[in-house]
Amino acid sequence: MIEIKGQSCIAGNWITPPGRSFQSFNPYKRESMYSFASCGADEVERAARAAESAFHIYRNLDGKSIGVFLNTIADEIEALGDQLLEVCDSETALGLARLTGERGRTCGQLRAFAELVTRGEWVQAHIDTAIPDRAPVPKPDLRRMMRPIGPVAVFGASNFPFAFSTLGGDTASALAAGNPVIVKGHPAHPATSELFAHAIARAIKKCDIPAGVFSLLQGLGNELGADLVKHPVIQAVGFTGSENGGRALMDIAAARPQPIPVYAEMGSINPLFVGPNTLQAQAESIATGLSGSVCMGTGQFCTSPGIVVSVANEVFEASLKSQLSEAPRGYLLNPQIAASLQAALESLNNHPHLEWLNRADFEAGSMTPPNAVFKTSARNFLADETMSREVFGPVTLYVVCENEAQMLEVAENLKGNLTASVHADEDMELAGKLYDVLEQKVGRVIYNGYPTGVEVCPSQQHGGPYPASSVSTSTSVGAGAIVRFARFVAYQGTPDALLPDALKNANPLGIYRLVNGALTTQGI
Ligand code: NAP
Repeated sequence: MIEIKGQSCIAGNWITPPGRSFQSFNPYKRESMYSFASCGADEVERAARAAESAFHIYRNLDGKSIGVFLNTIADEIEALGDQLLEVCDSETALGLARLTGERGRTCGQLRAFAELVTRGEWVQAHIDTAIPDRAPVPKPDLRRMMRPIGPVAVFGASNFPFAFSTLGGDTASALAAGNPVIVKGHPAHPATSELFAHAIARAIKKCDIPAGVFSLLQGLGNELGADLVKHPVIQAVGFTGSENGGRALMDIAAARPQPIPVYAEMGSINPLFVGPNTLQAQAESIATGLSGSVCMGTGQFCTSPGIVVSVANEVFEASLKSQLSEAPRGYLLNPQIAASLQAALESLNNHPHLEWLNRADFEAGSMTPPNAVFKTSARNFLADETMSREVFGPVTLYVVCENEAQMLEVAENLKGNLTASVHADEDMELAGKLYDVLEQKVGRVIYNGYPTGVEVCPSQQHGGPYPASSVSTSTSVGAGAIVRFARFVAYQGTPDALLPDALKNANPLGIYRLVNGALTTQGI
């Protein structure tokens, strides 16, 4: 068992900074637990300088060594055993079953990146050999591949304390690409973050990796994160969280003397479209599937279905209402999320054009909200932008359209989202039109399914047009996430000895490369 000391970790050194203290909170018992001291600008400076010097060594490690390191981190996470699950459950109330699954996903991500970098092809090596006698000008030898970008700041989300936090997908992909990482720990699960820092510290020692490759800065308040993003050593930011938080960091990064990319995955309302004939035929089963997806994780998923768009249907409405009312209430992650959900439900309830179909109490201080469904007309929805804001919790809005044309109008007026779902077995013509619109609005279109549950595999796209993501061309899940933390470098006329192995004539790594337009593993 590791003793939770309420510390941060800078390049392998455990510290208790002098900043103001904060407590982690047990949502089950509604009481404070571990005490932590906040890091400040001095700790940011120390972590940044350690990352800077570690980068000189780490960026030149070969893919196999980085792969061994990532696999060792996964092993060390598993070696934390039940303590990790129990501590995290006490800080998040997510439950041991969900956390066991999320731990598997987190270790799976690390091992998948290990495999990717061991194989080596992710660097996208392109080689165009010289044509010295080309007229009117000779063609130079040009070779291009991805290289690590530099120290990365990572901000985890409260709702994925494993998979999108301290050693989650952003950290895994940044390390995989050859970059040091400084994590700004999420204040809602600091003890969980401390345990993860122990796991990576052990992996760093075992694999003889420079200690500055990882630091964890714990803290409360926006200033710590802002200072980190402003630090000149930081070259990119990975963020998962709210639109407000992501946008604030984007603006800070853009205002730096050297602006840097911020890969922020933010909120989303994940609309579900149901064709009129399909709703008629499958009212009950779609209501069942939807209510399960709305309640999953107490609605605290970026992929939670916040609106369902279809025509009026009494069976569907009654079924959705009763299923959501009867579903057991889940726990919210922390008092801040509970307070903002309380305020959101009150404001929706007071909205003149919204009807709360299964109105229920949510007392102040309670951590277990009702599973709520509201109803409005498409006309009102289209006239009021506030109705398409994300409500973080088990809440959905039934948008009732007069006809198919109005359903398409709703789709056309959507902002960027992570996902959209289409149920249209009996409405294939409408499905085609919806797909045409939705693929411009979201990162993932789902047919006959529900948006919660994000498969981690190379074909996954977790990211969408703003405000779902700050960079719509990137994904934060799957193998493609690695390229966010690398940039292309071209080498012109460069002797073999000076080239990275991936670009050398003999192809010592044996990877697929695009040589003069042909994909090959052959040397030159
Ligand atoms: P959050 O409040 O935005 O916090 C995320 C992190 O950013 C925390 O470390 C927070 O710490 C920091 N932060 C927030 N605002 C900041 C600012 N203005 N300046 C500097 N740092 C700032 O988000 P959350 O409560 O963890 O997560 C809930 C939200 O995340 C939901 O909206 C959900 O939809 C979204 N989410 C999205 C995804 C996705 O993949 N797209 C996944 C999970 C969750 P401090 O408060 O201490 O500064």
